[in-house]
Amino acid sequence: MAEYKVPLKDMSFLLYEVFKADQMWQKLPKLAEQVDKDTAQAILQECAKIAEQELAPISRQGDEVGVTFNEGVVTTAPGYKEAFNTYAEGGWTALGGDVNYGGMGMPKMLTAMHEEMLCSADISFALYPVLTAGAALSLAKHGSEALKERYLTRMYAGEWSASMCLTESHSGSDLGIIRTKAIPQEDGSYNITGNKIFITGGEHDLTENIVHLVLAKLPDAPAGPRGISLFLVPKFHVNDDETLGAHNNVSCGSIEHKMGINASATCVMNFDDSKGYLIGDLNKGLACMFTMMNFERIGVGIQGLGAAVRSYQNALEYAKDRLQGRALDSKVNGVKNPDQEADSIMVHGDVRRMLLNMKALNEGSRALSSYISMQLDYATYGKGEEQIKGEALAALMTPVAKAFFTDLGFENTVTGQQVFGGHGFIREWGQEQLVRDARITQIYEGTNGIQAMDLLVRKIASSKGAMLKVFTDEVNTYIQANKNNAAMTEFIVPLGETVNDLTELTADLLAKSQDNINELGASANDYLHVFGYTAMAYIWARMAQVSLDQKDNNGDSGNDFYQSKLHTARYYFTRLLPRRISLIASAKSGCDCMFDINDELF
Ligand SMILES: Cc1cc2nc3c(=O)[nH]c(=O)nc-3n(C[C@H](O)[C@H](O)[C@H](O)COP(=O)(O)OP(=O)(O)OC[C@H]3O[C@@H](n4cnc5c(N)ncnc54)[C@H](O)[C@@H]3O)c2cc1C
Repeated sequence: MAEYKVPLKDMSFLLYEVFKADQMWQKLPKLAEQVDKDTAQAILQECAKIAEQELAPISRQGDEVGVTFNEGVVTTAPGYKEAFNTYAEGGWTALGGDVNYGGMGMPKMLTAMHEEMLCSADISFALYPVLTAGAALSLAKHGSEALKERYLTRMYAGEWSASMCLTESHSGSDLGIIRTKAIPQEDGSYNITGNKIFITGGEHDLTENIVHLVLAKLPDAPAGPRGISLFLVPKFHVNDDETLGAHNNVSCGSIEHKMGINASATCVMNFDDSKGYLIGDLNKGLACMFTMMNFERIGVGIQGLGAAVRSYQNALEYAKDRLQGRALDSKVNGVKNPDQEADSIMVHGDVRRMLLNMKALNEGSRALSSYISMQLDYATYGKGEEQIKGEALAALMTPVAKAFFTDLGFENTVTGQQVFGGHGFIREWGQEQLVRDARITQIYEGTNGIQAMDLLVRKIASSKGAMLKVFTDEVNTYIQANKNNAAMTEFIVPLGETVNDLTELTADLLAKSQDNINELGASANDYLHVFGYTAMAYIWARMAQVSLDQKDNNGDSGNDFYQSKLHTARYYFTRLLPRRISLIASAKSGCDCMFDINDELF
């Protein structure tokens, strides 16, 4: 496998040239205290070293050896414990954490890039700290002062990790039917009893304690999602002097044997009268858990991107070296590589298609991820209108980040594998591991089908299109501001058509759903992808605009980075954005063809 190189230049381009993050940080008082451009650059560079030098090298062995289980004890693959210690000692487990409890309070725009690096290096490793960061976020927002003081500091220090315990064997997408019970105790705590499955990092040897965030119901709780409460259940009790006490009857029954992310421990967890502490209000647990779940949903989207970036880097290096066949135009334009028995496969149109698909979709996903992260930073640190808008856009785009990036991520790992021909199917080159590792991202943290329903039903339809308008208003304002810029016409005109099409599709589906609500479920997946390609077109137009300006500043020919951006933007608009046309046709075709067929006829 090619050595992983963090795309630091692209990250800086997004932060400072496209989104002017440094100016935004200065404007938001709390962020201004934490971060400036120099600090951010130092963080990205140091994190790149960890990802390239410590994490990427252990990924292959992690895949081959995997996690082992012996009588309840879970042992991670060789090198993981050492890598985790190095990572924690470097302070990386505190990066986005609350400054009042030992966190570094870095903006999401930076922590998202840090997550991408971890995931390109090794998704399995990334899951341990990223889940802990999500649990800490939920605890910081909803936990009592006592819980925060006791647990958050140790989680940020990397001494304790966390897990997210939602799924039960009969309850996956539908959490309203969980059976795990919480019985109130006189001391204010709860005894938690139940079985959770598929729990990532539920048990392992990386940290001395594991903090489980568990969904459970009190015996008299209302039925369905309104009766769910959230509890913090530590693996070991914590004594008043902060030392670890007795075991809390939390045990790992087994681990799963999986298609990919083999170095991530996926555990069956048993809680047997384990002591738990309420987070947030009784029966409001799902809302508290959503703080973590929304964080993880964007995080899982970034996992898809991370794997796809690695796939592209490997495939590009391979394509440059691999000699097969002659270019189609050899007879007309002469042989390109006469000293060798064949040309590099880079000469072939289909190979260029595959590489450019990956490049355009990866750079577009990274840019869109930065845009969404910026909205989250406004939502957390902004004031007034800008905060309200940030919240709305982050909520609207979270299911898009999760499902669109992971569908593209999986597509791009398969595309990268295809560039290798047969060599992509065998283990030697590492491409097949990327395909296997990326596949889960479309499934966990709410399947992509559930994300599509979240976007179209919960966000767009429930707000009668108002949430969409927040986004389309911004894009239309951008189009108006740039419509007289001749150099941008090739981007602005198709962007305008695309946004109009999205608006029209939305109105069409909402109208049809008045007669038949099944129209929404039947078109949700297509709709999410139309939305994704539209949002990506907006971001590519903004990147193209900056590149055009920079090209002018750098003389007629511009420099390579901006030239490459412009070429890739053109490729996106001409070769990838048209995908939305067939998606729109499919979404508009109605639900009858799905529901007219009886179940017996399948
Ligand atoms: C490796 C791995 C790690 C995981 N880690 C964790 C973890 O750390 N914590 C945790 O709690 N869980 C975890 N999970 C569980 C994961 O989040 C669930 O598997 C996932 O949410 C789907 O639930 P399910 O498997 O029960 O599928 P189901 O809910 O049974 O879904 C089956 C199919 O039906 C579709 N479907 C279901 N309901 C609807 C609906 N209303 N509308 C449209 N389509 C629908 C789904 O999209 C899917 O295609 C993990 C799973 C795996 C495999």
